[in-house]
Amino acid sequence: MSASPVNAPFGSVLAGQMAVAWYRGGRWSPTEIRPLGPLEIHPAAHVLHYGSECFEGFKAYRHADDSVHVFRMDRHLARMQQSARALILPEPDTAQLAAAVTTLIDRVRADVPAAPAALYLRPLLFGTMANIGAAAQPSNEACLVVLASPVGDYFAGGAKPLKILIEEHAQRCAPHLGVVKTGGNYAAAMGPTLAAKKAFGVDQVLFCPGGEVQETGAANFLLIKPGHILTRALDSTFLHGVTRDSVLALARDLGYRIEERVFGVPEMLDWVQGGEAALSGTAAVLSGVGTLVHDGQEMRVGNGAIGPETTRLRDALVAIQQGRAPDRHGWLQRV
Ligand SMILES: *Cc1c(COP(=O)(O)O)cnc(C)c1O
Repeated sequence: MSASPVNAPFGSVLAGQMAVAWYRGGRWSPTEIRPLGPLEIHPAAHVLHYGSECFEGFKAYRHADDSVHVFRMDRHLARMQQSARALILPEPDTAQLAAAVTTLIDRVRADVPAAPAALYLRPLLFGTMANIGAAAQPSNEACLVVLASPVGDYFAGGAKPLKILIEEHAQRCAPHLGVVKTGGNYAAAMGPTLAAKKAFGVDQVLFCPGGEVQETGAANFLLIKPGHILTRALDSTFLHGVTRDSVLALARDLGYRIEERVFGVPEMLDWVQGGEAALSGTAAVLSGVGTLVHDGQEMRVGNGAIGPETTRLRDALVAIQQGRAPDRHGWLQRV
């Protein structure tokens, strides 16, 4: 691995080892840890034609005493199982996948950077059955890979408030797949997101089909005020973020009132007059939104800067991840 990966763009530097297992003949092969490199798959592989793929993303942190800890891996692996089931892919064996991740972390331990950087883990599962006539047939073969990537602090250059377009027509993905972490959803959101970047110079699109606030292309959305959070209740239309769940748990501990329900664009616009808005996800943890673009008009969120509540909640979560605050919820697993 090259020097100073933590200054490189997120995910662009990979550790030198990966974990690989194959599902064939109704069973999983043992996991192989091997040097990072190309995989051989058939050009007729199911994933290349019919998009049978899902993935996960979570982080391991090096603490001040040099011990390494992975954050809420159980939740991420359970979500991977759920994604596999939704896409009718062979389900990974949870114990085998967990062992693949921890073994890989151990093998690349020297590449786990010190805080605020971290090691990002990316398991992926895809259908490898070679049959281009299987449009309406599940793949009976699959490949499971785990990649590791040392990543820097998302906000190394200082956190900047985000500018977000409110999109009330286009959908991020098919409604029943919102809860599935599958590559096709990203492909579906790419067109509207790039168009919005070009037209309005925004960072992200907040999908609000039918006027109901959902999430952005890769992060959940929260409205925050002192002692109060409003966010959409869990349903099949959006991805159930582990970061969202963690932020809500910490906010509850801090005495915030958590409101989880459907809300519309007008209520959001009202909220941001004095309140805060933030995006949550593993990569950036909690990112403040400074500007919303609605019907071609720019609207400031609060005073346009990242709000104090957003910063407080983000710091509380990051302190646990980095081992600077007690892990009261048992979210960290030492590797
Ligand atoms: C991965 C992802 C998130 C964030 O989930 P975390 O578990 O918090 O990392 C949010 N939305 C979408 C669409 C995602 O794919």
